[in-house]
Amino acid sequence: MELHQLGVEELKNVLDKGGVSPAEVLDSVFKRIDAIQEKVKAFVTLTREQAYGMAAAAGARGAGALAGIPIAIKDNICTKGIRTTCSSRMLENFVPPYESTVTGRLLEAGYVLVGKTNLDEFAMGSSTENSAFFTTRNPWDLDRIPGGSSGGSAAAVSAGMCAAALGSDTGGSIRQPASLCGVVGLKPTYGRVSRHGLVAFASSLDQIGPITKTVKDAAILLNIIAGHDAADSTSAPMPIPDFTRPAGMDIKGFRVGIPKEYFIPGMDREVEAAVLAAVKQLEALGAIPVEVSLPHTAYAIATYYILATSEASSNLARYDGVKYGFRAGGKDLLETYMNTRAQGFGPEVKRRIMLGTYALSSGYYEAYYGRAQQVRTLIKKDFEEAFKSVDIIATPTSPTAAFKVGEKAADPLQMYLSDIFTISINLAGLPGISVPCGFTREELPIGLQLIGRHFDEETVIRVAHAYEQSTDWHGRRPKL
Ligand code: GLN
Repeated sequence: MELHQLGVEELKNVLDKGGVSPAEVLDSVFKRIDAIQEKVKAFVTLTREQAYGMAAAAGARGAGALAGIPIAIKDNICTKGIRTTCSSRMLENFVPPYESTVTGRLLEAGYVLVGKTNLDEFAMGSSTENSAFFTTRNPWDLDRIPGGSSGGSAAAVSAGMCAAALGSDTGGSIRQPASLCGVVGLKPTYGRVSRHGLVAFASSLDQIGPITKTVKDAAILLNIIAGHDAADSTSAPMPIPDFTRPAGMDIKGFRVGIPKEYFIPGMDREVEAAVLAAVKQLEALGAIPVEVSLPHTAYAIATYYILATSEASSNLARYDGVKYGFRAGGKDLLETYMNTRAQGFGPEVKRRIMLGTYALSSGYYEAYYGRAQQVRTLIKKDFEEAFKSVDIIATPTSPTAAFKVGEKAADPLQMYLSDIFTISINLAGLPGISVPCGFTREELPIGLQLIGRHFDEETVIRVAHAYEQSTDWHGRRPKL
């Protein structure tokens, strides 16, 4: 395999042996990027010059866990001195004066930043079609979307444009694009990873996590980014285990919950078959499938779209054309505000600000936001109940494989439905992973989602790794 196709662990082995330098790895990665970026459009910004500087520094230092490893970062995570756009006109020229905690930790580990990846504007979407700049394409079929909102990160990993990437997940934005691009995506427990420097979308749901070629690579990155951070009061002061340790342990006797509400009539047949085959495979590895019920699943999307839009309307109030970011002129302050927000935000972001502002407005707050919070508690309790009898829950990640560019863009409700299997996990704050579990007849990847208890990423990694290593889905690469 060529250097640009290697994941974190493999690349580290190659670099540690000597014979190959971080600069040679970068040569291979940028050659690949130059060959396919025009088609895939995974990156908003390429950081070629900085990357060679970082690679040289890594070569000199050598010791860091990620020394010389080329990684891509979703463009809603602040990188000091490097433009961070959120794929929005509003932040098109925004250069953060500070480093996010996660990228700060990657820097300490010696990583090499290859570029900032495309997303749905402010991470609102499931296809990257809401990017203000361009739509990223799925490397398995360029007529299709890569999923979203971390579509650029997932496409870049899948197509060999980096060894791994970071994404963010508010309702599925790490797991769904990972599933649709045939790679691994891990959303850690709410509070496991600092969000300092992540541009806020819905603060009670947002979480940063890795998108990688293997489960082990996801564990390696989680080891580096996890942990309490004084700059994020929602990050949990929990002990950090070595997340790579469970990779390689058996899963004999593990009880795997299969929620009956997740195998619904509207679901694609090939997806259903692949996920049920994956459950059989877990059984062959010694796990015990158990039917469980998550009775409030039907309310998850409605609940999410009230809470997420409410929080977004509040978080996005800061973009007023005064403090930073885009400013449109106006004859006075009010007109400046209005022009800035009218021109700076795209249609989906405006839709959400309006929905959220309505849900929070006086007289409606209790009926919408207050009610949604109550339903959220019920959804969380569903999982607590299920986890009394199982160690892990297995579901599809997405109800369909990658859809065509434009297929759902005109119908926001159809688009929102693609999050049906991922959203509850954010509402409950649980960790979840998507691992490749098959392909459709059209050669489109399908993902298996595994959900764990709060702060039990170890079981998630253990089961996902055992499954992955007993199949060869993760070894396939798109022919591009
Ligand atoms: N697709 C969901 C949304 O549009 C989730 C996005 C995300 O996780 N950032 O809100």
